[in-house]
Amino acid sequence: MTEPARYLRTVTLPLDQLRHFPGNAKRGDVPTILDSLRRNGQYRSLIARQVDEEPLTVLAGNHTMMALELHGPGDCGEPVKTPTGEQPCGICRNSPAWELSGRVEVVECDDATARRINLVDNRSAEKGTYDRDALAELLSYMDDDLGGTGYTDADVQLLIAPPPSLEELADTYGDPAADDFWPVLKIRISPEERDEFYGLTVDASGKEDTDRFRHLMTLARSAA
Ligand SMILES: [Zn+2]
Repeated sequence: MTEPARYLRTVTLPLDQLRHFPGNAKRGDVPTILDSLRRNGQYRSLIARQVDEEPLTVLAGNHTMMALELHGPGDCGEPVKTPTGEQPCGICRNSPAWELSGRVEVVECDDATARRINLVDNRSAEKGTYDRDALAELLSYMDDDLGGTGYTDADVQLLIAPPPSLEELADTYGDPAADDFWPVLKIRISPEERDEFYGLTVDASGKEDTDRFRHLMTLARSAA
């Protein structure tokens, strides 16, 4: 039997007092998280487990910790650009005195629960889906200032005008024909060669280049 995790306290700690969860399987998007931290600040605490005198182990928020490490101590020297100007970095406030630290919720739990929390925190995030209309509406309130949202203009365009589904393509263009998947030959020839090609293939069964090419093949076969 395993016990649920028990909340102990929330503290701000230097990152060198924390260690990453060993064997974390998730490979998160650290640059996007860093963008968010710089724009929004650290709005969510890391979750770390306390075991006796060992350093605290981060069960959830390992990529947030990596993003903070990527930022590094002191002034990053980069204010955050917004459409109306600049604002201080949400991590360091552009202060040289900023120490590499993060806000941490400390919990106590057994080994199995620690692994379970690490697994489910990663898994539950990826298993979720979106209400696309609600997402488009939320993004529409951002007034094209997408910094720190994790979305780009291209993402928003795809959301507003998504590529047609296979069903919609079939409605527009009909079902695919067998020869849709045949190889396509592409050749570049001089105008003289083109005229000669048309001249040699006036007796082809049709006027398309494909008909003319087949006719030429027939001629070549009978000459061989
Ligand atoms: Zn900064």
